[in-house]
Amino acid sequence: MFYIGNHTTSSRGYAAMGRQMIKNGGNTFAFFTRNPRGGKAKKTDPEDIRKYLEIAQENHFGKIVAHAPYTLNACAASEELRTFARETMADDLKRMELIPGNYYNFHPGSHVGQGAENGIRLIAQLLNEVLTEEQSTVVLLETMAGKGSEMGRSFRELRAIMDLVEQKDKIGVCLDTCHVWDAGYDIAAHPDEVLEEFDQVIGLKCLKAVHLNDSMNERGSHKDRHAKIGEGKIGLEALVRLIRHPALCGIPFILETPNDDEGWKQEISLLRKEYGE
Ligand code: FE
Ligand code: FE
Ligand code: ZN
Repeated sequence: MFYIGNHTTSSRGYAAMGRQMIKNGGNTFAFFTRNPRGGKAKKTDPEDIRKYLEIAQENHFGKIVAHAPYTLNACAASEELRTFARETMADDLKRMELIPGNYYNFHPGSHVGQGAENGIRLIAQLLNEVLTEEQSTVVLLETMAGKGSEMGRSFRELRAIMDLVEQKDKIGVCLDTCHVWDAGYDIAAHPDEVLEEFDQVIGLKCLKAVHLNDSMNERGSHKDRHAKIGEGKIGLEALVRLIRHPALCGIPFILETPNDDEGWKQEISLLRKEYGE
């Protein structure tokens, strides 16, 4: 099964997001749990959730991938910001249980001069305070481009965080193709080697979702500027090789390309054709 969708900008509720995704040709999607810059979460309406679950089941949706706000920094220097991060994630995870069994993706954080080791420790500490044995959501650390003091710039860094997390089955990784490319991994010329390295360092069973983006910049640029599929430095051929890669079979692929719904619809249809559906 090929699960493909986009990060939807719609904020009219779960059922509306599901319907929009069907229009776009998708069977999974991502969305911000609240304003990407932080702030209050949207109100949840039980009727909306009931409708969404019905739509998802009827249309054979895969797992969806919620995205934490960008402002959530688990390894911020100030205690106040770390408290905000912890409370935001805890509240988001509580809401995620209304749509059980999905993914919650977050940017590990920026150590802002405290050093990567402190960053690793603080991120793991937050996760250990927030993750519970009872939750059905798996929290995903996103692979990052390594802008500034951004954490998660290498598989080793993610592994170091995961090593310190107690609830091992509640944590996984979301691989962002633009970010790993910008971080220096050659997923265009050597996808097998990169996935092999992922497997050795983290383990492919922890790879739960992919953010499928092209990149505006050269490999190793540490920039993080997404491009439309086939319009960046990674290229269509390489991205198609990834969606068809046996190691990534059955996991959700989420487009975070600079598009509107019409553009995503075209990308999804192109990728479905290339996948061979
Ligand atoms: Fe992200
Ligand atoms: Fe991403
Ligand atoms: Zn990005």
